[in-house]
Amino acid sequence: MSQESEQGTLYVISAPSGAGKTSLVAQMLKQDRKLGVSVSHTTRPMRTGEQDGVNYHFVTREAFEAMISRGDFLEHADVFGNYYGTSQVWVKQTLATGQDVILEIDWQGAEQVRHLMPDCVSIFIVPPSPEALKDRLTGRGTDAPEVVARRLNEAADECSHAVEFDYLVVNDDFDTALDDLLAIVRCHRLRMQTQQVRHSGLLIRLSERH
Ligand code: 5GP
Repeated sequence: MSQESEQGTLYVISAPSGAGKTSLVAQMLKQDRKLGVSVSHTTRPMRTGEQDGVNYHFVTREAFEAMISRGDFLEHADVFGNYYGTSQVWVKQTLATGQDVILEIDWQGAEQVRHLMPDCVSIFIVPPSPEALKDRLTGRGTDAPEVVARRLNEAADECSHAVEFDYLVVNDDFDTALDDLLAIVRCHRLRMQTQQVRHSGLLIRLSERH
C-alpha cells in the first residue's frame, strides 16, 4: 500500500493526425471531471481559432531551448520541424493532488514518459482504415498533392509505433471510441492497488471477525 498509489494516474494518448484524438480528449474531459489535460509548449505558429495558454503555450525557439536547458520539460520532441514539450512541474504537481492527467503527445514523447514514469497508462488511437485516414487528412481536397503525401507519411510513421502502447482504440464511431477511452480510465481506477488505499477502512471493517 504505497503512498504513490494515491497519486493521480498519468494517461499518455497518441495518434496520427486525423484520428480524432483532440476531439475525443475534449469529450473525455467534459464527461470525467477527475481528468485534466496538460497544455504543452510549442514553437509552431498558432493556427486560426487557437488560443495561447489554452491549446498550447506558444513560445519562440529561443525560449523553448532555454526551457530545455533548465530541465523544465518532462519530455520534449521535435515533431515535423517544431518543438513540443510537456511541463514537468505542472504534471508532477497535478498528479500529487490526486488528479488524473492526460498528455496528448507524439510517440517520441510517449517513449520518454514511459521510461521516466513506468506507471503511466498509454493509449494509441487509430482511424478504422487507411482510406478513412486519407479522407480525413485530405479534407476538402484543396491541399497540394505533396502536402497530402507528407501528411500521410507522417501518419504512417506515427502508426508504426502503435504496438508500443498499452491500449489501442479504433475511432470508427466517435461515441464508441469515447466509451472505450472512458472504460480504460474507469478500469484503471478500480485496480486493487488503488482501491485498497481508497477503501482501506472498509476492507478492515469487512474482515473483522465477530
Ligand atoms: P499539432 O501541431 O497538430 O497540434 O500537433 C502535432 C503533433 O505534436 C501531434 O502528434 C501531437 O500529439 C504532438 N504533441 C503535442 N504536444 C506535444 C508535447 O508536449 N510533446 C510531444 N512529444 N508531442 C506533442
